[in-house]
Amino acid sequence: MSARIPARGFAIHSKEGKFQEHHFTRHALGEKDVLIDILYCGVCHSDIHSAYSEWGEAIYPMIPGHEIAGVVKEVGAHARKFKVGDQVGVGCFVNSCRACEPCALEREQFCPKVVFTYDCPDYFHNNEPHMGGYSDCIVVDEDYLIRIPNDAPLEKIAPLFCAGITTYSPLKFSNIQAGSKVGVAGFGGLGHMALKYALAMGAEVSVIGRSEAKRDQALTMGARHYYSSVKEARGAGLDLILSTIPTPYNIADYLEVLAYGGELAIVGNPPRDVLPSVNVAQLIRHGNKKVYGSLIGGIKETQEMLDFSILHNIYPEIELVTARDIDQVYYNLTHSNASFRYVIDIKKSFEVQ
Ligand code: NDP
Ligand code: ZN
Ligand code: ZN
Repeated sequence: MSARIPARGFAIHSKEGKFQEHHFTRHALGEKDVLIDILYCGVCHSDIHSAYSEWGEAIYPMIPGHEIAGVVKEVGAHARKFKVGDQVGVGCFVNSCRACEPCALEREQFCPKVVFTYDCPDYFHNNEPHMGGYSDCIVVDEDYLIRIPNDAPLEKIAPLFCAGITTYSPLKFSNIQAGSKVGVAGFGGLGHMALKYALAMGAEVSVIGRSEAKRDQALTMGARHYYSSVKEARGAGLDLILSTIPTPYNIADYLEVLAYGGELAIVGNPPRDVLPSVNVAQLIRHGNKKVYGSLIGGIKETQEMLDFSILHNIYPEIELVTARDIDQVYYNLTHSNASFRYVIDIKKSFEVQ
């Protein structure tokens, strides 16, 4: 038996807490595992919902982070897919059962035993809570890693493993193509990636925000229309709206913006005590419109998304920070004062402590 692996990260210890350096260990390198030196980790709004127990009581101490990019440091005896020095990515989950229907469909994110990267027991390692990417290393089975070309910019790639796949996947599911009219509701980390992917797929894109603040940025990035409220967008006749909104809102308002038979794909996941719900009577009267949810994407589709992003030169707008800034970054992201995506420079985070 090889030994457990010492690790350092930045943890929150309660929903009112602040981030602090935290020393812990990761499970030993299994035969098919890969040990990764983490270089960059994006900050997703899901990290905030989880860290502050907005989706239910979280597991503490918690090291969030599921937009992980790094370099292979060591491989297990029977790991064949990667070698030391390769660039790799880890997204929102690190394992699954491999036997259920979602696993067979390569939609592992829906596996009943999916091990999310943080705030989740590791069902395959004694149920120990799994720790995320605000840390210096991670050990993951090779089948749950994404291959990154060695010349690709890791700091911009990291956010693709959640913000990228979460927006790419429903656009594909809804068969967006040249001429489709797509709306993006909520224009932050996920929203600006949705805009970029929809454009690359040939769609005409409208952004629906909640203020004037990001009008110029949306238009500069290629949006055809910018609406500073959903009421303003009424009647726009869109084929698909992708909602990335992390706060309470009225679903019926967005149905008013869709064309006949249009779709509202929901990825934004507000706190559980303020979750929007569908008024069935309104839905029935709204013109055969469809409302569906979408959760990240499976490993195969995540690799496809990454290859598509690199091919089309689609990267997030990022601001590099260190772990010292996490509390402030969370504040900015919840007070309409944020960059599109913050990415933690992990090496620098330990230097400045
Ligand atoms: P960000 O904080 O980066 O972006 C959210 C954006 O939504 C901000 O631009 C914000 O605007 C805007 N916004 C907030 N409230 C409203 C509103 N009522 N109407 C219109 N716009 C609004 O968050 P992320 O992009 O990282 O995440 C978004 C959501 O997606 C979160 O709930 C997250 O948990 C969820 N998520 C879901 C995933 C899935 O698989 N389903 C995966 C990843 C994330 P402003 O600038 O004004 O504050
Ligand atoms: Zn995320
Ligand atoms: Zn499964």
